[in-house]
Amino acid sequence: MDDCIFCKIVAGKIPAKKVGENEGAIAFPDINPCAPVHILVIPRKHVASLNEVEDGAVMAPVFALAEKVARDQKLDQSGWRAVINTGPDANQLVFHVHLHVLGGRKMGWPPG
Ligand code: 5GP
Ligand code: ZN
Repeated sequence: MDDCIFCKIVAGKIPAKKVGENEGAIAFPDINPCAPVHILVIPRKHVASLNEVEDGAVMAPVFALAEKVARDQKLDQSGWRAVINTGPDANQLVFHVHLHVLGGRKMGWPPG
């Protein structure tokens, strides 16, 4: 997708400091962190949102990398949150599906 910022990050056309990658996904810090650790994990393949994930295989590397990132960031014992905002009510801003790995502070529930 030519006009997708996360596809540009995958292609190296927009800089992002990669903190992890596997065959199907990459991870990099959110530009506007909401927690001491806030990392985005995205599939290399463009899929706009969870609504368009027709093949669950696209998300398998995303979940695998999220778990590795959380462990690398030493969040596995303290706890962390995985968030995938989907559509307007969830305030999805970037339409290339992404999983937020959030941690390093106590979080509330229900989310706002
Ligand atoms: P959403 O609301 O779509 O789930 O979240 C999109 C996230 O992408 C936001 O937290 C925003 O700060 C982040 N973001 C948007 N543009 C960029 C960018 O160019 N680089 C990085 N690293 N993060 C971005
Ligand atoms: Zn994209």
